[in-house]
Amino acid sequence: MDCIFCKIVAGEIPADIRYEDEELIAFPDINPIAPIHLLIIPKKHIPSLIELPETEVSLVGKMAGAANKLAERENIAESGYRVVINCGEQGGQGVFHLHMHLLGGRQLSHDMG
Ligand code: AMP
Ligand code: ZN
Repeated sequence: MDCIFCKIVAGEIPADIRYEDEELIAFPDINPIAPIHLLIIPKKHIPSLIELPETEVSLVGKMAGAANKLAERENIAESGYRVVINCGEQGGQGVFHLHMHLLGGRQLSHDMG
């Protein structure tokens, strides 16, 4: 399958893996929009949030748990941070492998765009 994030999971494309457990990995976004910009993804290929099976919704909770751990590690837990999942074309999704953005290290806009 021609999925860039599956290739990162498989180790075919190098990435600085900042977090890993049985189901998830996290690595820096290649085009960061904040001093801390990490992507948390499931190892399993799920194209988007809307395609997450009802039986697997707990995966998103685990992604949020990983985001919290990473926020602690990256020292943005106290200053604050944002997690974002873009879904579909009008949701601004560009890579069709489910991912959560973790953004922090600067004042983020209240305008959600
Ligand atoms: P989204 O627009 O929510 O689908 O976000 C996709 C994100 O993946 C963008 O912020 C890209 O900069 C990022 N991205 C694309 N390719 C890579 C890559 N090889 N390694 C890390 N981040 C990537
Ligand atoms: Zn994939």
